[in-house]
Order: sequence, then structure tokens, then C-alpha cells
Amino acid sequence: MINVTKTFLPPQEEYNAILKRAWDTGWITNRGVLVKELEKKLIEYLDVPNIIAMTNGTLPIQIAIKALGLTGEIITTPFSYVATTSSIVWEGCTPVFVDIHPDYLTIDETKIEAAITSQTSAILATHVFGNPCAVEEIEAIAYKHNLKVIYDAAHCFGVSYKGKSIFEYGDVSTSSFHATKIFHTGEGGALFCKPEYFDSMYFHHNFGHNGPGEFSAVGINAKMSELQAAMGLAVLPYLNKIIDGRQTVISRYRTAFDGLNIKSIKIREGSKWNYSYYPIILKSETELLELVKALLNENINTRRYFYPSLNTLKYVARSEMQISEQISNSILCLPVYMDLSETEQLKIIEIVNKRVS
Ligand SMILES: *Cc1c(COP(=O)(O)O)cnc(C)c1O
Repeated sequence: MINVTKTFLPPQEEYNAILKRAWDTGWITNRGVLVKELEKKLIEYLDVPNIIAMTNGTLPIQIAIKALGLTGEIITTPFSYVATTSSIVWEGCTPVFVDIHPDYLTIDETKIEAAITSQTSAILATHVFGNPCAVEEIEAIAYKHNLKVIYDAAHCFGVSYKGKSIFEYGDVSTSSFHATKIFHTGEGGALFCKPEYFDSMYFHHNFGHNGPGEFSAVGINAKMSELQAAMGLAVLPYLNKIIDGRQTVISRYRTAFDGLNIKSIKIREGSKWNYSYYPIILKSETELLELVKALLNENINTRRYFYPSLNTLKYVARSEMQISEQISNSILCLPVYMDLSETEQLKIIEIVNKRVS
């Protein structure tokens, strides 16, 4: 079976050697030496001012909404993983969708202002597939209307925009270290923020503690464990190799589909991308479903990232998002991972070529 992605597992003895340090101290929770070391290494690798490692990539979004004190309406993208929208609803706010750009697939910044009301408190956008949003335009709109900006940067490990880590944009930026993401800790995630928010975000992720017997605010438990951090420490040395391997795979797709009627995502000018996904946009859902079936017949498992368009979820108010719905219905992510062999990939390309006219 060829899957849409394959989790990179470091050599087990390297993971074990790091785990042994946790065994030796007998300390596996509550931000021990391994979590702290991972945070330090990630700050260096990503060249960011701060980070809070967390237990997954959804809690940081919820914590950001909570700790920034957001209420009322939050403007967001309908084209993302469900966690972006569900976090808004979970925190008692109302998602207001703004359609996406048909090429970049990120929120269409030119449509944001029309969606702002007196109830709007923030913009929560996703750098989908690691492709940066129009961060400068969004920042200008947010400044003008006094809104906070949160980026769901779950796909963005290693992405930079205009020479700066993408995690540095917005008031808060969140990431996921889930096993399906480029850098992973099994389950895991992180939050990055402007320095003035750091203490508040930190307290919120640890029950609100600001001392052994003191609580600054209502909090939750989103702490990363030592076992997760050990995985991260074992994976990190391979990151450049992982990204290079994925670049090779995506270059092969690009060359093979060049000149054919197969559209992919347009990466924003000024970005250094991380080759996290290779989506293709087909002519219709029918064509997509036939391709999925043909690939599955050859044991090739693709994924409909992202389907459905989030404005159609049962628990949000009905709104129509033409572009997002159309893209959601016709977009498919092809397998991309470091050691996908050329032979395997040629088989995928052949099937796509045969099915897509
Ligand atoms: C993976 C993902 C999340 C959730 O991350 P978890 O670590 O699985 O909680 C959130 N947003 C997007 C866009 C994602 O792809």
C-alpha cells in the first residue's frame, strides 16, 4: 500500500537513547529536560523568538482564542482542516467565512473587509499546505480595524516568508507536530506569539498556573510530555533530509504534469516552501472520484484534503463559499514522502495521466 504520507520514523536506537535520559531521571511529564531541550533546538532551527511546545496542534488554537480574550465573530477560511473552525466554535465564538483565492487557496484578503462587523474580534487564517496567506495585507486590515490575527500554521514547519519564519507572523501562530506532518512528535504541536502575549499563553497551557499555588486565569492542560519530546529530538536531525526528499518527489510530479491540464497550488511569491503536500485540482468531483478509485485499485491511497468545505459543517450557520466548495469537491492530495520511490511514483503518474484529460 502506498499512502498519501508515511510517517518518518527515526532509527529506533536513536529514539531509545534519548528516552533513556527520561528513564534515568524518572521524569516523563510536566516539562522536563527533553521538552525544554526540544524547545531550545526548535527556536534555533526555526530562528523564532519563542515557542511553547504542546500536546497537539488543536489546543494552541483554542488557547490563542481564549488567551487573547476573543469574543463574537472571528473571520476565517472555509478551506482548512476542521480543527480551525471547530476551535472557534469550541471557544464560544462564531466563525464568519471568507472565500479563498482560487490559485493560492488561502483566504482571499480582498474579501475580508466586507465581512467585518462591529462584532468581529479577529482573523484566523490557515497557511494551507504550507502556502503563506497574504500576511502583509491581512496585517494592514487587522491594524485598521483593531483585530487580532491568529494563523493556523499546522502545515508550515520550515516555511519562511520574505526571509522570516512564517511562525513569526500574526499575534499568534500555531503548528501541529502530528505524525502526518513534516516534523512530528507522534502527537504534538506548538504555539508561537508576539512576546507580549507569551506569559499569558504559557499560563493558559498549564492550568493557569503562575506559581505553585497561584492561578492567573482559567487554564487547560496542553503540556507536551517527555515521550513526545524524545520523538521530536530524534526526528529533528533528519529534517533537512526529509524536506529535500519531498522536494525531489514534488519536482517529479511537476515535471510529469507540466503542460497537462492538471492544476496544483500556486505558492506565494517571496516564500520558501516546505513541500508538505502535492494537491491536484481536477475538473469535477466525478473525475476526482474515478481517479481515487483507479488509484485505490493499485493500492495507492490518496486523501481528499480538504473536504468538505468548512462552511458546510452542520454546526455553523449556512453560507455559500463558491470557490472553496468547488475546490474542496475537486482537490486531491497525491502521495508525498521522503522515500517514495521513483518506480512507485511513475505508477501514480501513469494512472493520473490516463484518467485526467
Ligand atoms: C493537523 C491540523 C490541525 C490539528 O493538529 P493536531 O495536531 O492533529 O491537533 C489543525 N489545523 C490544520 C490545518 C491541520 O492540518
